[in-house]
Amino acid sequence: MILSQAATEIIKRLEEASFEAFAVGGAVRDVIMGRVPNDFDVATSARTDEIKALFSNLLVIPTGEKHGTVTVLRSGEPIEVTTFRVDGLYNDSRHPEKVVFVGDVETDLARRDFTMNAIAYNDRCGFVDPFGGIDDIKAKTIRSVGDAEVRFREDALRIMRCIRFASVLGFRIEKETDDALKSCHELLLDISKERIFSELKLFLSGDFQRYLKSHGYIFELLFPGWNAPDEACPDGCDALTRMAYFFSKADVEAADGYLRSLKADNATRRGVAMILRAMKHPRITSKREALYFLSEYGYDTAFRAALLRADEEEAMLIEEHRGECYSYDRLAIGGKDIMALGYSGIEVREAKKRLLHAVIDGEVENNLASLLEFLAR
Ligand code: ATP
Ligand code: MG
Repeated sequence: MILSQAATEIIKRLEEASFEAFAVGGAVRDVIMGRVPNDFDVATSARTDEIKALFSNLLVIPTGEKHGTVTVLRSGEPIEVTTFRVDGLYNDSRHPEKVVFVGDVETDLARRDFTMNAIAYNDRCGFVDPFGGIDDIKAKTIRSVGDAEVRFREDALRIMRCIRFASVLGFRIEKETDDALKSCHELLLDISKERIFSELKLFLSGDFQRYLKSHGYIFELLFPGWNAPDEACPDGCDALTRMAYFFSKADVEAADGYLRSLKADNATRRGVAMILRAMKHPRITSKREALYFLSEYGYDTAFRAALLRADEEEAMLIEEHRGECYSYDRLAIGGKDIMALGYSGIEVREAKKRLLHAVIDGEVENNLASLLEFLAR
């Protein structure tokens, strides 16, 4: 097992000071799977003030001290170091934040969501795997730690995490865990929309297709009126295009309403609306239609919409003509040239529009002399 240099050193220093310390969570899972972890988390018996004192020569950021978490920056690598803890009183909405610090790593692992995420490792002890996480990783299985229903009722975000991991890791969901998704999914309505949105984005970044039907009930709950798209998501879609695909059975206003309800950023909202609108455009069958389509939506949106419509001829026409003149800034004539002919104010824009249409329709060549001559006619 190879931990990062920074994680190894932080664990070593904690152990030398007689604390227990382990790499935990996603990084351990990723290493077992042979994936490169994005970041290492360390769990320790030390309290945050003890951690801060021990790493006083390094930058220590109090990222979540209430929850026992600080971030230690070691040669530019941030390591989250968290005191062993259990999360108390989930069912008491007045104290959702309360945590209890505990003495041992196994108790800390028991609070974690899935067996694959509940494995600890350090060089001294090797793996600590009380819930059979390593076997589940080998069998590509997502299984709740303990009673799945209890765990989803404690924190319904785990429902989104479950299908997100299934999609991203390509794991199957163990039966009891899967049944509990269904029986608990309505609790997702209590979860913060921002967190659901970020899980949805991760879900869509993976191999999500089959879960749209099998777990569509989750999305139908979150987005009333939502339906799974009929066709498969084409290969080569980026994040924005996948989001548009996900909402492609909804009309533009409904999709925007769903995204607004998730507090999605404006770029995503605008981008998805543009793609869905472009998808409603009549089919492109000629160079001229491709240029008008490009002129209305711009290349990025036009390309994404064509991709989602899975129409190769259309996509080829758009690619073939993307370098041509379909926008005002590509006209070989500027506002000054037009004004020099005596046009002013709104007339300038109208002249440009006429010129652009004439160029797209093939009535005039896109060079200054021809455009000036066309205007003078
Ligand atoms: P990623 O690869 O996306 O970072 P991760 O498993 O590391 O996945 P994090 O959100 O970084 O996920 O959380 C780190 C660890 O904290 C998890 O592996 C899991 O052990 C625990 N954890 C995170 N969120 C929850 C939760 N909602 N309920 C229980 N345990 C959780
Ligand atoms: Mg992580």
